[in-house]
Amino acid sequence: MDQANILIIGGGVVGCAIARAVSARWQDVFLVEQNPKLGMATSSRNSGVVHSGIYYPKNSMKARHCIEGNRLTYEFARKHNVPFRHTGKLVVAASAEEEGDLDALKKKGEDNGVEGLRLIGPAEIQKREPHIRGTAAIEVPSTGIVSAEELVHAYARIATGHGAEIVTRARVVSLEPGAGAIRVGLRIGDEENVQEETIEARCVINAAGLYADEVAGLLGNKSWKIYPVRGEYCEVRGPRASLINDLVYPLPHHDGLSLGVHFTKTLWGTFLLGPTATYVDGKENYEKNRLPIAAFAESAKTLLPEIEESDLHLGYSGLRPKLVPPTGHGIADFVITRDPAVPQAIQLVGIESPGLTAAPSIAEHVAQLAKEILE
Ligand SMILES: Cc1cc2nc3c(=O)[nH]c(=O)nc-3n(C[C@H](O)[C@H](O)[C@H](O)COP(=O)(O)OP(=O)(O)OC[C@H]3O[C@@H](n4cnc5c(N)ncnc54)[C@H](O)[C@@H]3O)c2cc1C
Repeated sequence: MDQANILIIGGGVVGCAIARAVSARWQDVFLVEQNPKLGMATSSRNSGVVHSGIYYPKNSMKARHCIEGNRLTYEFARKHNVPFRHTGKLVVAASAEEEGDLDALKKKGEDNGVEGLRLIGPAEIQKREPHIRGTAAIEVPSTGIVSAEELVHAYARIATGHGAEIVTRARVVSLEPGAGAIRVGLRIGDEENVQEETIEARCVINAAGLYADEVAGLLGNKSWKIYPVRGEYCEVRGPRASLINDLVYPLPHHDGLSLGVHFTKTLWGTFLLGPTATYVDGKENYEKNRLPIAAFAESAKTLLPEIEESDLHLGYSGLRPKLVPPTGHGIADFVITRDPAVPQAIQLVGIESPGLTAAPSIAEHVAQLAKEILE
């Protein structure tokens, strides 16, 4: 049986960022991922936006890790040649009635410590985004976009360079806490050729995304339930993609469900419209009952009147690992904690947006928790 100091469950952006951080400090680090490749779940099905931290409650983990993660993500992308564009973004009020909410959002961002926020009027909106209609906007200079896929692979590459072992097609099926270590049962390989293996780890980190509640359940912790909320996208390609220059957001939903359907100019020159927000059954349910393109065109016209249904192509979708049930309200914070009953385990649950941005900061936090366990 292999012995590990640390075993990370999940090879999304969070697991890979953690692997990079902990492998710089300790030997015998393993990361196991059930899919054939890293980053195939939520980490490659998002907007790729490097968020600023304006939206989240003051002193929340989301606010803290987003603001620090924003700085660390740009620094990392620059140093390791991960494609990114530091564009800034506009949050636009469609009418005068929305301007009170716009002011409140600016104040929230400032309270969180986000720098450089500025209110601008229609003339400046026009200068930056000639096709967008709005009465006022917040300019958010620290927002940008990054290649999520390449970010995941860069974190993983550095972790393996430090000596970490990354195993794909490896699903954790059991976790048995013992004295000073957890026995991790793995099913490795594909359907035709499955092997059972066990690794004994002094510290286990649950970064299993949509399945983090089930992985926590393997340790007997039933504290959390994840509700998948699908976010769907449409894409505008070719010359009509010039209708948008950078990033344009409406005001966020009052129910805390999403940041609203926004326009994101991609690194490949198209623009995305989305993501929508719908609770769905099933953690692999990306495509059943997709919204019609007409619904996207309709909602986009408020800020971008020139958009036509014929400009839009159905794009991909992603699933948010929400901790708030369909009947609930508000924003749940990230859960990042040592398990109260199994102190060698670190649980990360509900790592929805801004998880891509926050990943390198979350990784430093988790490395501190791992230090308490290992040293
Ligand atoms: C529509 C949408 C848009 C978003 N936009 C943004 C954005 O613009 N900016 C931003 O900062 N964030 C954004 N996010 C959030 C961001 O994508 C996520 O927070 C982040 O990708 C979460 O990463 P993760 O590693 O926790 O999860 P995942 O990427 O889901 O990785 C978890 C991994 O664990 C694996 N796993 C699960 N169970 C097991 C097991 N038993 N054994 C082995 N492996 C297992 C899974 O296969 C998966 O690969 C968005 C999310 C969505 C859905």
